[in-house]
Amino acid sequence: MEKRYERIRKKRDFRKTPEPGAKEERPFWADKEPIFVVQEHVASRRHFDFRIEVDGVLKSWAIPKGPSTDPREKRLAIETEDHPLGYADFEGTIAEGEYGGGTVILWDRGSYRNLREGASPPESVSEQVKKGRVSIFLEGQKISGGYALVRTGGKEGKQWLLVKMKDDEADARRNPVSTEPASVKSGMTINEIKGVKNRENQ
Ligand code: MN
Repeated sequence: MEKRYERIRKKRDFRKTPEPGAKEERPFWADKEPIFVVQEHVASRRHFDFRIEVDGVLKSWAIPKGPSTDPREKRLAIETEDHPLGYADFEGTIAEGEYGGGTVILWDRGSYRNLREGASPPESVSEQVKKGRVSIFLEGQKISGGYALVRTGGKEGKQWLLVKMKDDEADARRNPVSTEPASVKSGMTINEIKGVKNRENQ
């Protein structure tokens, strides 16, 4: 059966996009634990792509406002297509007119743990995604601690909420989406990367 992300590959023309294609290898910084990334993406609308490694692919959600560290903030997360693991290290500019055209930075990265591993019965993250309720503990450079993803349905059942759990990492005073804009890969902000691209085009 065709993997879901094969469809993404077909939508893209890899002579025109710098994206890594269907590379299935995990990025060099991945350890034994499953990984997660948050990619800021300025396309037709600015959003943050939240991706977690599940069964050899990156399960993905687009979060218009990005993740919050405040448990009272429920962030809308729209389920999008699975991406290949190699995508976790991508940042750069996708040509306008191409699928996802715009600029991407690696806003955060790290590993995560399944918080329902020790539950009785234990539940894999893959099962939790199917059931629409995911409990994970993130260890990123900007965001960390327990997060819940809860499916609320909505249009085509793709609407979820990402909510910070109440734990030591919760902090209503932080707002890393606006105060920590630099990429964890290049140190550049999305506007700086766009600026470089514009200069190249002149
Ligand atoms: Mn996106």
